[in-house]
Amino acid sequence: MTARTSEELMKKEQRYGARNYNPLEVVISKAEGIWVEDPEGRRYMDMLSAYSAMSHGHRHPKIIKALKEQADVLTLTSRAFFNDQWPTFAEKLSKLTGKDMILPMNTGAEAVETALKAIRKWAYTVKGIEKDKAEIIVFAENFHGRTISIISFSTDPVAKDNYGPFTPGFVVVPYDDLAAVEKAVNKNTAGILVEPIQGEAGVNVPSDGFLKGLEAIARKNNVLLALDEIQTGFCRTGKTFCFEHEGINPDLIIMGKALGGGILPVSAVAADKEVMGVFQPGSHGSTFGGNPLACAVASAAIDVLIEENMSERAAELGAYFMEGLKKLNSPLIKLVRGKGLLIGVEMTEAAGKARKYTTSLKEKGLLCKETHETIIRFAPPLVITKEEIDDALAIIKEVFV
Ligand SMILES: *Cc1c(COP(=O)(O)O)cnc(C)c1O
Repeated sequence: MTARTSEELMKKEQRYGARNYNPLEVVISKAEGIWVEDPEGRRYMDMLSAYSAMSHGHRHPKIIKALKEQADVLTLTSRAFFNDQWPTFAEKLSKLTGKDMILPMNTGAEAVETALKAIRKWAYTVKGIEKDKAEIIVFAENFHGRTISIISFSTDPVAKDNYGPFTPGFVVVPYDDLAAVEKAVNKNTAGILVEPIQGEAGVNVPSDGFLKGLEAIARKNNVLLALDEIQTGFCRTGKTFCFEHEGINPDLIIMGKALGGGILPVSAVAADKEVMGVFQPGSHGSTFGGNPLACAVASAAIDVLIEENMSERAAELGAYFMEGLKKLNSPLIKLVRGKGLLIGVEMTEAAGKARKYTTSLKEKGLLCKETHETIIRFAPPLVITKEEIDDALAIIKEVFV
């Protein structure tokens, strides 16, 4: 039987789908811009944006056009051959990042794995670290994806428990603590992997100067600095990349999510020749990485960010939204923090679990998601307008009084 109503569809998913998510009770069957709709025709404002992958808004016309046009000519070649889309996309992303070379993958986790591999290979072939001794410094409460190696250095028991044995070679230090990083560096340190803002941890914004300090430690000790910009990149925080707020020049830039324009999984790592040059034919790869369909979509996604001044929009509207949230003076809100349109609202202890509030917001037509039970993340598509933010604030006010 074909399920049609939200009720039926949710029941079917619960029956046949693995339970590795706990979604809000809303079924989305249609979307445009910042709006999504369920099978019953109820409309909701999307304030999660698929964890920042939907920065361009749902079905951005220019990106959909690129998708359709490319689908009519060529979709997949594998990297056994050249194709006519990857070179242009690589050039575009190289110019955007200011890095010599790009390695394309699909999901964010794959791009993180790629960066870890590059760091290790560089450690042995360039820096001269003893075989199998390379260490990479990472941070408590990190989120870099779901592979076994990546969760090996997670500090979240929910993400990690019962998946061992784990990949060695990672040293976890507290976030936003330069002294701890300095202490952890030794002759076997190959790299530092960091999120410029910890999104999944609850929009943890580090102190000013943290990234600059990491860069200084990396330079002083001949260690590579890798920035995971999968959630923060592509204008989300008010700059093309979040690290630009501190004017640093990381060795590796890891990208994903919004790079796919909200349509396809597209991820990539950007680095200069001295680092990316460690990869030889056969030493790393992906069947779908760099496929022409994804490259055409991602190229259009980058063009749209630039043409529509998404950085300025995110900076301006983010400040406006955050100010509005603070002005609610809600007794349930402990703290509002963030950068650009990546905003976290930490609830007070008295408020109880955040899920209660995300459910009420959904009932009133606003979709967002709690993270770690006490924090609500607001990260709307960057195409949102000031008037729509006012509408959102009015709904939030009703729920948070
Ligand atoms: C989402 C995310 C990832 C993982 O990306 P996937 O596409 O889900 O594999 C990695 N790092 C950060 C910071 C993320 O937000």
